[in-house]
Amino acid sequence: MEYDLHIHSRFSFDSRSDPARIVAAAKKTGLRGIAVTDHDSIEGGLAAQAIAGPDLIVVVGMEATTEGGDLIGLYLKEAVVTQNPFEFVAGVKSQGGIVFIPHPFRYHVVPDEELLAQVDGIEGYNGRSSRLREVDPTWGEPKVERVAKEHDLFVVSGSDAHRPSQVGRGRTVVPAATAEDLRRELMKGNTLLCGPRRSALAHVCDEVKGAVADRVRQWIDKNRNRPQEPEFGFSRDEGARDETR
Ligand SMILES: [Zn+2]
Repeated sequence: MEYDLHIHSRFSFDSRSDPARIVAAAKKTGLRGIAVTDHDSIEGGLAAQAIAGPDLIVVVGMEATTEGGDLIGLYLKEAVVTQNPFEFVAGVKSQGGIVFIPHPFRYHVVPDEELLAQVDGIEGYNGRSSRLREVDPTWGEPKVERVAKEHDLFVVSGSDAHRPSQVGRGRTVVPAATAEDLRRELMKGNTLLCGPRRSALAHVCDEVKGAVADRVRQWIDKNRNRPQEPEFGFSRDEGARDETR
């Protein structure tokens, strides 16, 4: 099941996408779910959630521009507007949300160690700032793998879409069919990253997805009534590299 966990709508200063068009684009491109992560607002997420219906999971999120770099909060009930990264993390967690760092190395900014100790996840592929390495299938952000291991962070892929047509240009494969499954599996680190469909690496991505889809199905069948450590995907010990070859 594929998720795009970083999307902007017209409630963000940098996008004009209507939530209804985002929802339609997400369904069309086969996503199980999305997170709408507007700058300093959860209105877009709430609007998308209200119209999505049962075919599409919508996680209400927001992106904050803080003094410690950008941060994304998911599973929000209210916006957390602050420029202090630690206040943002605390504000998200106080309402049961989770936090990940988007495009961690954009502008060559290295995330703060103290902050890395408090967040839950990190973006390993961003549709707007990660380069696709056409000859090297270990695309994504290699540094993220190391940071994620050091700080026990889950790794996600997001499009950072500012237009409906860009929705899905960064996908996270997670063995989750509901919003709560998604939260739980993210926190376990059960993710696998996928870039855009129509890239030079589309075949690599599709191969990976095919194999993963089978394993996800098997895992769900096997674990329907007995939760245990899943045998799936991007475990925090293995890293993404092996999975994307
Ligand atoms: Zn963004």
